[in-house]
Amino acid sequence: MSDCLFCKIIAGEIPSSKVYEDDVCFAFNDIAPQAPTHFLVVPKAHIGSVSEVDGSNSAVVAHIFEVIAKLAGEQGMESYRVVSNIGEQAGQSVFHLHFHVLSGRDMTWPPG
Ligand code: AMP
Repeated sequence: MSDCLFCKIIAGEIPSSKVYEDDVCFAFNDIAPQAPTHFLVVPKAHIGSVSEVDGSNSAVVAHIFEVIAKLAGEQGMESYRVVSNIGEQAGQSVFHLHFHVLSGRDMTWPPG
């Protein structure tokens, strides 16, 4: 989508601190990290949120989780949290599907 921030990051129109890229997804460090390690993994194809995942695109989500496991292993992350906010009340501010990967500090549950 032409007005989507993450589509522009994927296209290189807005700079980012890239962590990983393949044909399906793109990972980059969050600009406002909430933990010592905090990166986002996003599909290259525009999907608005988890609410738009169905049989036509769920393989993309499965692939993203494989990538998250691979990156966590490579970075020696033994304990980490994966979060996807859906909708404004849950804290979603960018309406392109993304998974936060956070690690490196104690975390509480439930979240605030
Ligand atoms: P959410 O609030 O769950 O939609 O997450 C959006 C995330 O995108 C937030 O954690 C922001 O800090 C992050 N973010 C916004 N703009 C950028 C950017 N230009 N580069 C990297 N991360 C960003």
